[in-house]
Amino acid sequence: MIKMLDLHKQYISIKDEIDNAIFSVIDDSAYISGKYVSKFESEFASYIDTDYCVGVANGTDALEIAIEAANLPPGSEIIVPGNSFIASAEAVTRTGHKVVFCDVEPETYVICPTSFEKKITSNTSAVIVVHLYGHPCDMNAIKDISLKHNLMVIEDCAQAHGAKYRGKAVGSIGDIGTFSFYPGKNLGAYGDGGAITTNNKELADKVRMISNHGRIDKYDHKFEGRNSRLDGIQASILSVKLNYLPLWTEKRIKIANYYLDNLFGVGDIILPRKEDWAVQVYHLFVIRTNRQKDLKDYLNSFNIQTGNHYPISLPQLEAYKYLNQYDEDMNCSKNSSQLLSLPIGEHLEEDDIKFVVDKIKDFYLL
Ligand SMILES: *Cc1c(COP(=O)(O)O)cnc(C)c1O
Repeated sequence: MIKMLDLHKQYISIKDEIDNAIFSVIDDSAYISGKYVSKFESEFASYIDTDYCVGVANGTDALEIAIEAANLPPGSEIIVPGNSFIASAEAVTRTGHKVVFCDVEPETYVICPTSFEKKITSNTSAVIVVHLYGHPCDMNAIKDISLKHNLMVIEDCAQAHGAKYRGKAVGSIGDIGTFSFYPGKNLGAYGDGGAITTNNKELADKVRMISNHGRIDKYDHKFEGRNSRLDGIQASILSVKLNYLPLWTEKRIKIANYYLDNLFGVGDIILPRKEDWAVQVYHLFVIRTNRQKDLKDYLNSFNIQTGNHYPISLPQLEAYKYLNQYDEDMNCSKNSSQLLSLPIGEHLEEDDIKFVVDKIKDFYLL
């Protein structure tokens, strides 16, 4: 079986270090916040190259808390790309704002700056850019437009740990960055986890307070916050895995390059565009084809797992029917039935990828 993800294989490869890390936390009873969380926060801040990193309970909370900390006008509009996981939009509504969907690029599937600018009204207060599949958005274009219209830029980096835009890590370019450490992400915990990165001290302080009951001191609270903290066991696991992330990312890039070289011109496949200004970290390797369903069935019959991210665009979800923003002419609407995610990850061997490529070529010869 050629899997999309193999967390057990990854654990076995670093078992001693992980086991020791977990038992140290238990030995120290440092379960919530504490030294293991502080250690990981400073390591991750240095990895992303921001002044601050605040660990939170998951990537969805990270988005909600980032929006809340920004103190945007209640009910204002926040622009979100139509192709993403629902969390990118959920956080907007749950913090009392209105989601406005814009379109994505046809070959990278991340936010289209032109479409974004068209959706701006006098009520727009922020944009959430999603570095989807590990592909950095065109941040200079996004920042220029945002500056012109005085919008806050929130980077959803849940799929892009270590991805770079013109030499800068995503999560360090907008006003604030949010990360998920869901187990299947490029950097994943053994449970839920998330983080917020920023260079803005005021935002960092606010975020930390919101995530910990608006706390100033023990039993002294400046305002009502919530409970959304990273725990010690997850932080200690993340510290171990962060050391391997560069190596694992290199492996993803190598696999992606093999796909790009060997699937070029095969059938009707549209490959993800490679940008010379980006380090793409390929959380997913997503191709587009009119024969998506048949190709998927064919690969699955050879025990090759595939995915579809995402089968229904956000504006088309039942959850967002009330917004009436579905438009069949948008790229995100047209793409959903054509996108196919191929296996990628540090768990795969060269022979696995060769096998996938051979089977895809066979399919188009049928
Ligand atoms: C996974 C993900 C999230 C949410 O992260 P959780 O940790 O699962 O809450 C948000 N945005 C995107 C793009 C994601 O892929």
